[in-house]
Amino acid sequence: MNRLFLSPPHMSGKEQEYISEVFESNYIAPLGAFVNRFEESIKAYTGTSNALALSSATAGLHLALRVLGIGQGDVVLASTFTFIGSVNAILYQGAIPVFIDSDESWNLSPALLKKAIYESSVKPKALIVTHLYGQVAKLDEIVAICKEEDIFLIEDAAESLGASFQGKQSGTFGDMGVYSFNGNKILTTSGGGMLVSANEAWIAKAKFLSTQAKENFIYYEHKEYGYNYRMSNVLAAIGVAQMEVLDERIKRKREIFEFYQEQLSAIEELSFMPEIKSSRGNRWLSTLVFNRTNPMNVIEALEKVGVESRLLWKPMHLQPLFKERQAFVDGTSEAFFKQGICLPSPTNSTNNELMPVVEVIRNVCS
Ligand SMILES: *Cc1c(COP(=O)(O)O)cnc(C)c1O
Repeated sequence: MNRLFLSPPHMSGKEQEYISEVFESNYIAPLGAFVNRFEESIKAYTGTSNALALSSATAGLHLALRVLGIGQGDVVLASTFTFIGSVNAILYQGAIPVFIDSDESWNLSPALLKKAIYESSVKPKALIVTHLYGQVAKLDEIVAICKEEDIFLIEDAAESLGASFQGKQSGTFGDMGVYSFNGNKILTTSGGGMLVSANEAWIAKAKFLSTQAKENFIYYEHKEYGYNYRMSNVLAAIGVAQMEVLDERIKRKREIFEFYQEQLSAIEELSFMPEIKSSRGNRWLSTLVFNRTNPMNVIEALEKVGVESRLLWKPMHLQPLFKERQAFVDGTSEAFFKQGICLPSPTNSTNNELMPVVEVIRNVCS
């Protein structure tokens, strides 16, 4: 039997053709037509007006902080229940992360966000909010708080490409947003990211910084330091092909979620990650918490039948790296971490192939 993975890459079938076009043109790098096409397809899909293709979403978050003028000693609020890639860039900039817990939505708690703002001795400059596992956070409340308090909002939409709230795409609510095309995301270019913003000048500045901050001179002139963060034309060709099947991938991810929910509905101790009102998630990973069963027992039992599963993200405020950092928490994400798991959600699978997952969970929970 083939091993079942959490979220393996799934090609559309067009990738080779587009990559061949790149090779025939000789422009495997630097840049080229597919980088533009990839950016255009993200703009068309998400409705953002400016997009910048990068080597990763982490690079995008780093550029976002740089462009927004966030640096040494500045306070940046962030979801604690997330992957480290959300917050590493805060450290790259010498800024100070302050972590905020989740609420019943699993995503950032607006109430704790307010508390963090009112109780911080230094006024926070920005918030990085994560849309966990493809479901959007309470964007209406979060956007309102950030506007009111004059705090930049950066959306970590690395996991939530194609998810929407009130009909608007995740990643386009904040001052800036990022998507990831890392190997395990809903779409992949093997590695890559996209920075988006309604602000043209910010994206232009990010582009300049992403290509070594070369001034517009006939020779190489530098007034500030930049990075080598741009995406290659070869990977962008993969991205263009992947964007063509985004809707199909979301459809299948959502079917997988519904399949698990239905098949496991008799087990009372389970609760799946919710989808907040007026939102539509991409269900990148199907996730649930057990009320009673130790999730490690489930993970081990799944492993025995060749199925990959994982605990939910370990919150940032529990990481040794951040043990000295301030956090506004109430135990919510810690409980999720102790009780929850991510289930295999491969779009290139049939419901039949996912049946062993269901059977193992039924067995362990009985
Ligand atoms: C994957 C991920 C990132 C990092 O994306 P890269 O493209 O690998 O840099 C950041 N935040 C979250 C929530 C992620 O899941």
